Amino acid sequence: MPNNSEPNFAGIEVASNTMRGVVISAAGDVIARRDISYQPENLIGEIAGLATGLGEAGAIKSVGVGIPGLVNRETDRVLISTGLPSAARDDIHSELMKATGLRFELENDANAAAYGEYKAGAGRGARDLFYIGIGEAIGGAIILDGKLWIGASGCAGEIGHVTINTDGAECVCGNTGCLETVASGPNIVRRARERLDRDSTSSLSRLALQESLTTSDVAREATNGDDFSVMMIERTGRSIGTAVASMINLLSIERIILGGAIMEAGDLILNPIIEEARRRSFQPCFEATKIVAAELGADGVAIGAALLARDVA
Ligand SMILES: [Zn+2]
Repeated sequence: MPNNSEPNFAGIEVASNTMRGVVISAAGDVIARRDISYQPENLIGEIAGLATGLGEAGAIKSVGVGIPGLVNRETDRVLISTGLPSAARDDIHSELMKATGLRFELENDANAAAYGEYKAGAGRGARDLFYIGIGEAIGGAIILDGKLWIGASGCAGEIGHVTINTDGAECVCGNTGCLETVASGPNIVRRARERLDRDSTSSLSRLALQESLTTSDVAREATNGDDFSVMMIERTGRSIGTAVASMINLLSIERIILGGAIMEAGDLILNPIIEEARRRSFQPCFEATKIVAAELGADGVAIGAALLARDVA
């Protein structure tokens, strides 16, 4: 066994029914990875178990946890989480440390992913960036001058809840027509299913008969040249681009990074996002902004959480 004196760091992404854990070296290289599905009623025990299991790959100095909710980094409390059981709002930070003896850092999942891209992905070399994570929900995070900018309330960057259609569908946040009601993973699947009822020629039609149709299926079939899937991806991209244009006009930010399963469609999604953003923003603002896909893929939140744990240690 190598006797490595450099400490390792763990990062865990908590989603509604699954968790992904990674171990990174002090240099930021991923050296172990583990996925689990879990019972939400035992949230703390499941996170603690995963962290302990990750420690079997070598001593861990601290653990970062990316959570789909609003986290106050000063008090380490989860303030709001629509994706997690209410137990997440108890003092999970001190309970995790008690259960494992390890040091934990909690962070909003989009903030963690943004930090990961900034340090080790598509944000390297940028001073300021806006990260948009398109998954079960749509999260966003802003890094200014190397630091997460969370705003007066801690909610800054919530681009998923920017209104893009005042007559649109009701959102989990209570508003209507938010970007999330069109472009989150479940809403892309919902829109695809609604249209597939009228279009049986698509290669998605057979997949849509199953419960498990996902955004990755739509992205993959688009890449394989299915016209219906390409159209769904294009429309989704234009909605995202509409919100991105507002961010460009508002912040004139150096780099906008897009992550999440839908980005597996590559240029098929990125190009309509860029085109719509160009159409709807001031030309000098648009030209100063680079719009790119995230580079850390499905590990993004976990790697970012581990890097946060490393950098506060
Ligand atoms: Zn909303």
